[in-house]
Amino acid sequence: MDSVELDFGPRAAAFQQEARAWLDAHLVGEFAAHRGVGSPTDAEAWDVRLAWDRELAAGGWLGISWPEEYGGRGLGLLEDIVFSYEHARAGAPYRASTNGLDLLGPMLLAVGSPEQKERFLPRILGVRELWAQGFSEPGAGSDLASVRTRAVLDGDEWVIDGQKVWSTMAQAADWIYVLARTDPDSKRHKGLSMLLVPADQPGVEIRPIRNLAGQEEFAEVFFTGARTAADLVVGEVGQGWRTAMATLGIERGATLLPQQLTFEREADNLVAAAKQRSGELDPELRSRIAQAWMSVRIMRTTNLRTVGELLSGRTPGRQASIAKLYASQAHVRLGHVAAELAGPAGQIVEEGYALDIRQRAFLLSLAETIYGGTSQIQRNIIGEQVLGLPREPRP
Ligand SMILES: Cc1cc2nc3c(=O)[nH]c(=O)nc-3n(C[C@H](O)[C@H](O)[C@H](O)COP(=O)(O)OP(=O)(O)OC[C@H]3O[C@@H](n4cnc5c(N)ncnc54)[C@H](O)[C@@H]3O)c2cc1C
Repeated sequence: MDSVELDFGPRAAAFQQEARAWLDAHLVGEFAAHRGVGSPTDAEAWDVRLAWDRELAAGGWLGISWPEEYGGRGLGLLEDIVFSYEHARAGAPYRASTNGLDLLGPMLLAVGSPEQKERFLPRILGVRELWAQGFSEPGAGSDLASVRTRAVLDGDEWVIDGQKVWSTMAQAADWIYVLARTDPDSKRHKGLSMLLVPADQPGVEIRPIRNLAGQEEFAEVFFTGARTAADLVVGEVGQGWRTAMATLGIERGATLLPQQLTFEREADNLVAAAKQRSGELDPELRSRIAQAWMSVRIMRTTNLRTVGELLSGRTPGRQASIAKLYASQAHVRLGHVAAELAGPAGQIVEEGYALDIRQRAFLLSLAETIYGGTSQIQRNIIGEQVLGLPREPRP
């Protein structure tokens, strides 16, 4: 598939060359040995990925569009997208410190206080502090407004009690941004606040959860009288819902094309494996392989359209729901076909051996229809906001 060359236009050409040259010079040794390793939902080679993040930080390749005063380069979204694309194209290890860089950092840039920006942003960019997101709870996932974790002001500190779940790599985090109920009498979206909570303290217990691929990638987080300073609220006290929605709404434009490349490589690998199979392929399986390949191709068009909208300064909004739903479903289909092609042997992983590319596609794609808003929730949004269907009943 002709996936590797994308022309970002004359404005980006020099920057693209600079990025390629830097990646050629630095993606060597241990980093080169870990080409293609890692994804948003796995902890594979964590230490190497973290070391790679620090290499990127030292080279000035993190926070490309962040203001220079916080250690960024002060460039635009185009440069951010170009570097992310070149990074994935070179097969560089998947970045480890994504939560702080892609979610909390932009949230602080948008609504953080000057003190919060000064204190946290340079440490995020320098990969000196790692962050985890504490939104979901056992009774509050799709229905996030049901958050029950509560925080009470005690002098100049918040005291936090409750439980979060599925927090990606919380076990490696120095800080957690926590959506908590600060008004005990409030209901649903009202009376919530976004607190920045240090993870290393007696009141915070983090229990990793093993995922389908056998890795401890996310965790349960228990808060029992945990404490944080009164001024570590992002946005206004009681306005945490608005702050959380801003985070969830942050368009991860720079990650769309890298994700596209990953899926295209998997689709290519699938077709190559099908060609190598001795004997005839079942016609039905052959047709599903072709459909999986086509889905990834269509996804590229959808993703390029979304990136185009972002670069023109528009917020893709509903288009983002359509793209998210399509990409995750397409990846699940591709993963299923890959598993079927491998047959019973595809289910075997020997102790100590890594999963192969098709086993990973099968297992890890299953999470994509859940995180970032489940497929059912995306369909609700599309049904109501794009098609104008009657509203789903709300709890
Ligand atoms: C790999 C991974 C990483 C994650 N990382 C984080 C993280 O770092 N921080 C964090 O806070 N959370 C994280 N999450 C949690 C994620 O946000 C939730 O799993 C997700 O929002 C769904 O919530 P839930 O698991 O409680 O499922 P539920 O909301 O209980 O849903 C169960 C099922 O019911 C369906 N359903 C629910 N409501 C409706 C409705 N109104 N209409 C139709 N169907 C509905 C859902 O689609 C789903 O199929 C992660 C999840 C995964 C899988």
